[in-house]
Amino acid sequence: MTMPGHNLPILDARKPHVHTKGDQPINIACEKHSVAGSVSQRACVFCGSRVVLYPIADAVHLVHGPIGCAAYTWDIRGSLSSGPELHRLSFSTDLREKDVIYGGEKKLEQALDELIAQYSPKAAFVYSTCIVGLIGDDVEAVCRKLTEAKGIPVIPVHSEGFKGTKKDGYHAACAAMFSLVGTGDTAGIKPHSINILGEFNLAGEAWMIRRYYERMGVQVVSTITGDGRIDDIRRSHGATLNVVQCSGSMMPLAKMMQEQYGIPFIRVSYFGVEDVANALYDVASHFKDQAITHNAQQIVRAELEGLLPALTRFRNDLTGKRAAIYTGGAFKAFSLVRALRKLGMQTVVAGSQTGGREDYEQLRNLCDDGAIIVDDTNPVELARFVQERQVDLLIGGVKERPIAYKLGIAFCDHNHERKIALAGFEGMLNFAKEVHGSVTSPVWRFAPYRHATEASNQRGIA
Ligand code: SF4
Repeated sequence: MTMPGHNLPILDARKPHVHTKGDQPINIACEKHSVAGSVSQRACVFCGSRVVLYPIADAVHLVHGPIGCAAYTWDIRGSLSSGPELHRLSFSTDLREKDVIYGGEKKLEQALDELIAQYSPKAAFVYSTCIVGLIGDDVEAVCRKLTEAKGIPVIPVHSEGFKGTKKDGYHAACAAMFSLVGTGDTAGIKPHSINILGEFNLAGEAWMIRRYYERMGVQVVSTITGDGRIDDIRRSHGATLNVVQCSGSMMPLAKMMQEQYGIPFIRVSYFGVEDVANALYDVASHFKDQAITHNAQQIVRAELEGLLPALTRFRNDLTGKRAAIYTGGAFKAFSLVRALRKLGMQTVVAGSQTGGREDYEQLRNLCDDGAIIVDDTNPVELARFVQERQVDLLIGGVKERPIAYKLGIAFCDHNHERKIALAGFEGMLNFAKEVHGSVTSPVWRFAPYRHATEASNQRGIA
């Protein structure tokens, strides 16, 4: 079965999740459970919660389940902390057969008791995994008991792996954090103040973004969750604006805070020259303050003075190259399409794990004619799209990296594990260097599969 717009075999049930930009409007299937038989690139609900809460550095993160769930998500992001590093440890109740039969509540209670005594955390998050949903442990009751006994918030995260998509994990994480919001002292918070939501401080990016806003004269009350602290989240309802990046994961929290505390939010992105500049200008225009606006303009002007000439060098080599993008949320994909265009590159395949209808519509509008837009893809599809569209670069995360390298295509890691800052103006320069270094590497000429034709499509990935 092939799809219109390209000549590639695809599962019947997957067809509605793929769109080729042409004359037809986009009507893509999305925000659904993954198709059986399609090995989705998505992670489970538990993993969705874990990646969002992970950077909160002064909390214990206890995975209630078999050891594998904890191992799978151990130190899952490259999030840096300016202080405690408790988040980098992976604790598990290590449920076994006996616990499955008799229940794991006692084990959970004992684990929390020991961990809180040993590490004196500011809070503890308890993640429910698949098996906990099946055996029916009353995690809520154990958390309530320990909260009273220990005097710190012990918060259940309802993230049973099977109960939805990764996006449901984001919701569970936001619900857990929302139980903290409003419990702290807001003294000292100024009228021009923000929370930075959805910035996870990979390679110190939250620090860079924070500095931009502080140079503008805006107070940053909390970064949620990069370099996150429990006390900051508790007082975050004192800020007057929520600035939301990675909206897929953080919009539920922003909406809950708007509803309960009347805090408005704006959506931004810190990737790419235009987007990071707009992120500063949008905050400035929200506050309608002359000094803040002037400062934002000064920052953007000063940063661009050095950056734009440097980008020209890379653009000369990269112009006309083709890229494929596969991200967790769709919002990042918008920024990447624009950032690649700044480097002279064209996006010919773009997709995400968790995008919604409006996201895909915007993505379609951003891409050129003929671009393949894909929701919740799998490795075989992605490899075929990449080959068929003859891309020179794949941008993705840890699960896309082997696809690129097996095909002999340049790769840029734009996800959890990376150690190089790609956000902000500095990040755009790093991004250009990384893309340029990988795309122009001589190693690809030795790759046997590159730009394979129909014959190798039949072969799939070796
Ligand atoms: S929660 Fe379930 S799906 Fe997720 S890692 Fe654990 S067992 Fe696997």
